[in-house]
Amino acid sequence: MKKSLIVALASVGLASAPALAAADWTYEGPRGADRWGQLHKDFEKCEAGIMQSPIDLGQANATGDIDVDVNWQAGPLTVLHNGHTVQANFAEGSTMVSGGKSFKLVQVHFHTPSEHTVDGKAYPLTAHFVHAADDGALAVLGVMFEAGDANAELQKLVDAAPMKKQAAQTVAGASFDPRKLLPEDRAVYRYMGSLTTPPCSEGVNWHVLSTPVEASPAQIAAMEQAMGMNARPVQLLNGRLLVAPE
Ligand SMILES: [Zn+2]
Repeated sequence: MKKSLIVALASVGLASAPALAAADWTYEGPRGADRWGQLHKDFEKCEAGIMQSPIDLGQANATGDIDVDVNWQAGPLTVLHNGHTVQANFAEGSTMVSGGKSFKLVQVHFHTPSEHTVDGKAYPLTAHFVHAADDGALAVLGVMFEAGDANAELQKLVDAAPMKKQAAQTVAGASFDPRKLLPEDRAVYRYMGSLTTPPCSEGVNWHVLSTPVEASPAQIAAMEQAMGMNARPVQLLNGRLLVAPE
């Protein structure tokens, strides 16, 4: 092997170590949301994408009654902290049908404050219920929390929420019913967007319930303490269809 090639390979090796470390992203600071697209080649959509999430929902350009069928059920409570958010994983058996397509409920995770805004207003807490279809397509149902009465089902998550990065653990004897985190009114905003975290992959079917639910100030504060500020700033709509409930 020629010496120049060995040197070249060595420098590739040196360069790849910081590149891997750069994939460790944050919300603020030098690896913050405005720089995600430069941290790793797999993150380029975060900067170059034109169908990104979250967005401000107040700029809807259509109205319609979007039919979303939520067919969830109670199951074990399995909670993890991935370093960015508190997440609960679901067992098989819960689905959501949107646009005639069935998606399986995979996990719910949280953001403080909410990522989507309405006319510039963020809610103090949001939950994102992530669903995946058999073909890999993703659909998210978002619910906003406002300060008010405590939500008993949310409290199960608050009590189990790790304060820092921790692998999934199932809470012995606990049953968690995700339906109890939803409002009765299932009217939604609907648009096509992206993951709100790197790699910011597009093609995500977004639904955000227009009616918020309540959580107590103490519950909101506990989630914020566990996660810190973990909301990506709103992105440009770029002419996408955004349907608001009628
Ligand atoms: Zn999310």
